[in-house]
Amino acid sequence: MEVSLYRFMPGIYIHIPFCKQACHYCDFHFSTNLENRGAIVRALLEELVLQRDYLGGEEVNTLYFGGGTPSVLTPGELDQILDTVHKTFPVNPLAEVTLEANPDDLSREKLKSLRQAGINRLSVGIQSFDDAVLKFLHRAHDAAVARQCISDAYEVGFQNISLDLIYAIPDQDEVVWERNIEEALRLKPQHISSYSLTIEEKTTFGRWAAKGKLTPVADDTAGHQLLVLVDRLERAGFEQYEVSNFSLPGFQSKHNSSYWRSEKYLGVGPSAHSYDGASRQFNVSNNAFYLKALQERRIPATIEVLTREDQINDYLLTTLRTSWGTDLARILNLWGYDLLAAHEGYIGALVENGHALLESRVLRLTKNGKLLADKIASDLFLLTP
Ligand code: SF4
Repeated sequence: MEVSLYRFMPGIYIHIPFCKQACHYCDFHFSTNLENRGAIVRALLEELVLQRDYLGGEEVNTLYFGGGTPSVLTPGELDQILDTVHKTFPVNPLAEVTLEANPDDLSREKLKSLRQAGINRLSVGIQSFDDAVLKFLHRAHDAAVARQCISDAYEVGFQNISLDLIYAIPDQDEVVWERNIEEALRLKPQHISSYSLTIEEKTTFGRWAAKGKLTPVADDTAGHQLLVLVDRLERAGFEQYEVSNFSLPGFQSKHNSSYWRSEKYLGVGPSAHSYDGASRQFNVSNNAFYLKALQERRIPATIEVLTREDQINDYLLTTLRTSWGTDLARILNLWGYDLLAAHEGYIGALVENGHALLESRVLRLTKNGKLLADKIASDLFLLTP
């Protein structure tokens, strides 16, 4: 693959697989048994060292603690991980270092210690400012705690804060959603991520839905709520740079953007994924198996070598969701595939009905087109011969 044509900004993702309690909608990998936390941190350190060559010695530009709930880590544990990262990889001194956090973990003392440890970006799981909705979702905090932690975060010196909000919540009044957006803006974040609530089978909501106790929100209602958000945030100066992500100028998430630009990253921890440009690696989603493997100095991962079709389809799926769009010249240069010639009629129709723009061989979806991004990507997928 002629990767040298493009600039790479590798990142490292660190998965912290613990949460204080399970939210009713969540199917991420986590455990509510925090007893193994120390052992998992030691295993993460081991994995970082074992994976020291994964990024080929390139400078690391972003670090991201995700989960689970990374804010359950003590300052000492966080220091240990960051220290090992810095001793093992060349890290850009100006690297973006993000920590996902829940409001109930963010006391003023904790916030100060996070700053001292080198965290320079917070991604806070607010989800809603309505206490009844937070209770329904089984979140561990209430709206007052959420407001307080953001104000404290600014006071201790954070200048790059992202808030998570959830829409398409069953039975949520449209007015509650609009109020949530206004409340979020009053806290003056630099970035907002907003996710449509999906009902996953192995969650409490999934079980309720199977018994008919909960009805998922219809797609067009969810789409309308996303458009309400897009319009309001645009008026407040935010750009929708990815379907679910909005930022003030200069505050795009560098880490997540690197995923959407198909750049390399190393993921460590149970359930973490890695990508080196030619293959993906998936760590086991089980804390006990993960621990045992790392105690034996093994990385418990399956590797999927990407075919040319996989690489093109992954690129389509991620870039079509972004404001920078899909570079058809890049697809031609890297993989020798003329997507425009193969789908001229379909792409022409997208442009004609206002779902896309095509300029200088870059395909960009419009606001309405972004609502259909995943469907459009799959329509353009290259099938395995
Ligand atoms: S939404 Fe976040 S805090 Fe809630 S269970 Fe999932 S990972 Fe944990």
